[in-house]
Amino acid sequence: MPKRRNFECPNCGTVVSEPTKTWQLVAPIPDRKGRITVTVMGAFECPNCSHKWRDVVSKLKIGETSVEVSGREIGIEEKREPKVIEIDLENLDEEIAEMEEYEEE
Ligand SMILES: [Zn+2]
Repeated sequence: MPKRRNFECPNCGTVVSEPTKTWQLVAPIPDRKGRITVTVMGAFECPNCSHKWRDVVSKLKIGETSVEVSGREIGIEEKREPKVIEIDLENLDEEIAEMEEYEEE
């Protein structure tokens, strides 16, 4: 099983393991390899202080023969269906800002 990521409340530091809601953002334009970038966003609510925030849960690049997860490419020639894998991400602030543009409130 992939390691699950825990999300920390930015306000009080309480660890929240599950988003209250998730949604996917699909980049409108494929990258140079013709892959579609899918970002899974999560909405979180702190059970301790009720602070609400959003974070990237995982990010996938889906192509015909491979799936890239945060820069690591995984061949899917044997398994035709892309598998959703949760992974830890670093330096997300910039990407979150970028994704806000596609987001509908
Ligand atoms: Zn909190």
